[in-house]
Amino acid sequence: MNILVINCGSSSLKFQLIDAVSEKLIAKGLCERIGIDGSRIVYQPAGGEKQITETPMPDHNKAIQLVLDALTNAETGVVKSLSEIGAVGHRIVHGGEKFASSVVITEDVISAIEECSDLAPLHNPANLIGVRACQNIMPGTPMVAVFDTAFHQTMPEEAYIYGIPYRYYEKYKVRRYGFHGTSHSYVSKRAAGVLGEDIGKLKLIVCHLGNGASVSAVKYGKSVDTSMGLTPLEGLIMGTRSGDLDPAIIEFIAHKEGKSLEEVMQILNKESGVLGLSDQFSSDFRDLEDSYQQGKPEGTRAMKAFAYRVAKYIGAYTAAMNGVDGICFTAGLGENSPLIREMICGYLGYLGVALDPEQNAKRGEDLVVSTKDSGTKILVIPTNEELAIARETYALVK
Ligand code: AMP
Repeated sequence: MNILVINCGSSSLKFQLIDAVSEKLIAKGLCERIGIDGSRIVYQPAGGEKQITETPMPDHNKAIQLVLDALTNAETGVVKSLSEIGAVGHRIVHGGEKFASSVVITEDVISAIEECSDLAPLHNPANLIGVRACQNIMPGTPMVAVFDTAFHQTMPEEAYIYGIPYRYYEKYKVRRYGFHGTSHSYVSKRAAGVLGEDIGKLKLIVCHLGNGASVSAVKYGKSVDTSMGLTPLEGLIMGTRSGDLDPAIIEFIAHKEGKSLEEVMQILNKESGVLGLSDQFSSDFRDLEDSYQQGKPEGTRAMKAFAYRVAKYIGAYTAAMNGVDGICFTAGLGENSPLIREMICGYLGYLGVALDPEQNAKRGEDLVVSTKDSGTKILVIPTNEELAIARETYALVK
């Protein structure tokens, strides 16, 4: 069965068509600038040329129609008709406390996702526009919602509760939820496979280090803590997000700079993180690594603070699980930067961690990058959120 995986944002839509049985990618692409001038679709059949077509996309219905037209195109398409698409898997950012696993989408599910929109006002409404557009154009095709938050619903209360009046949890569900759950789940399972161990017996820490970044503690296959919170702003220093800070800073900066709450929040989300630390030099770790290698202060400050924060979380989660068997690195930076892995592992001598420099220099595959006698295994596991969504979708509709 072919599964169409959709990741829909407010003005963009990423898609992949995956054969759920062989787990092979059939085609992928992206619609950009939906509802804005200059919209375009990028489409690439597996092993084929990338095609870029500029075409008006007034709304998401039109974008989905163009995706389906590309997939069924007589010359460059990959399926003969829409009947060859068995189901659609939608990435949904926030499932609140309502969803601890993926679900087949019904009207009740859509209402429940709408109720969670308060918690993710930028993402959930956009995700639902994608669901509605697919329903309009493929009315008979089953759809599944796969939530970024679901994997972390196993966190115990002491890990998810904030130290603020309990009534805010009761009234508004203010608590830690965590994100990147699809990735943390996929990577932890895969790591168990690479180690040849039963995940039910392993204590793993997954470091998802990309532009957005989070760490999770996965004990015996279940998430018991993760660094992002009510929103993705908490935790690690990220590309442009601040991560953890003293909440009093918000009021302090607002007063000093004469800014509104919204303006300060915008700064913490879009101008902070390594971009802010490097004095707005770059949020891209490739630039920061170059700067660090040249001994320049911008990249050095950002890289060191980033690595230190990750190491601190690893220490915290080792304590939370009373030990750790394996530490996994994934996502753009975690998979591709031997340097950042080396900098983080430099703090882990107390765990007996020893990196194998030759293994650590490799890229693009599942790897154990620690030495045979390292006290804790260090792994690099390329994440694949789309495949994980396709698997969840297939499991529910087959
Ligand atoms: P993601 O959000 O998972 O797509 O990751 C994006 C981040 O990964 C960006 O900050 C990139 O600079 C970083 N990244 C990707 N490739 C490399 C690389 N070869 N070396 C260092 N950082 C990289």
